[in-house]
Amino acid sequence: MKKCEIIEAIEEELQRAEKKHPKWPENIFKQAAIVSEETGEMVRACLHLEDEGGSIHQVKDELVQIAAMCIRMLLNPPLEKILKSAKGEQIERFDIF
Ligand SMILES: [Mg+2]
Repeated sequence: MKKCEIIEAIEEELQRAEKKHPKWPENIFKQAAIVSEETGEMVRACLHLEDEGGSIHQVKDELVQIAAMCIRMLLNPPLEKILKSAKGEQIERFDIF
């Protein structure tokens, strides 16, 4: 896959996931669990490559899903907001960069 194809696939997956699951948890640990779940699915797809008839396409699909969930975690809600809120600090900006 070319880089532009990968980025396009991630954007499509992000839009698909946001439509299918419009609510994204505010709890950072629940967000991390979603990313971790996708990571586990990618590892399983890799394991299936060797001895259970898996395909590289399944691995790629899971990698795209991980990337999409990472973007979702970065965007919703911004991590800085969560961290400041946890510390009881006033929130001045909503982006993390
Ligand atoms: Mg998956």
